[in-house]
Amino acid sequence: MSFDKSKYKVWTWKNPLVLHWIINPGLAFNELLLGQRVPKITLIEKDSKKPLAERTFVPCPYCGTLHSSLKWTPQNNTAFKNWFGLYCDNCHKIIPCVRNLTSLVVIVLTFPVWYWFKDRWKQDWLKTQEVKFSKPLVLTQPEFKWWYVGLRFAFFMFVITSLFNYVFFREEFTWKSLFLDSVSWIIGGLIFGIVMKKISGSNLSNRGEKKTQQAT
Ligand SMILES: [Zn+2]
Repeated sequence: MSFDKSKYKVWTWKNPLVLHWIINPGLAFNELLLGQRVPKITLIEKDSKKPLAERTFVPCPYCGTLHSSLKWTPQNNTAFKNWFGLYCDNCHKIIPCVRNLTSLVVIVLTFPVWYWFKDRWKQDWLKTQEVKFSKPLVLTQPEFKWWYVGLRFAFFMFVITSLFNYVFFREEFTWKSLFLDSVSWIIGGLIFGIVMKKISGSNLSNRGEKKTQQAT
């Protein structure tokens, strides 16, 4: 597919956010268990005053529809369970997504397990998508609760790092270190929430940023 590069910035795997999705092993959890997916191509409308999410589009390579990225969000109950990719509600095909490297390894290693029921599962999944996407979808950005996003992130990171420290690295457990860890994660999480709010709410239409990436 070719896109009007004067109108859209094209994000592919070369974009740092997408690349992060591919290489961060922790995100295999989101991809394999939660079914969260990142499309291979994302278009960002340039020179627009709208918030980032409202000018982010996902093109369908089969029918050419430019979908609002807000189609796949928790508010529409469509952000997760996208194990086979993002469903195009126009042509009923599956928009290709990038693959996290760790999940790729897990998928290859568990091949003998899932191979036998994948076709059946895919058919059922496609039927579920049709039902989900036949309902009216909300395509405006929900209010961003930065503190909620930050604390959820902090809790998640706290659990993961504690698990690593005490179980895998066998660090000596003390209540003091657990307390200090939780405090630092709460602070870190709140900073993360503020940064995410800035990213999602900012309109990156500053004239200096004119670099576009080639679609592959
Ligand atoms: Zn389509």
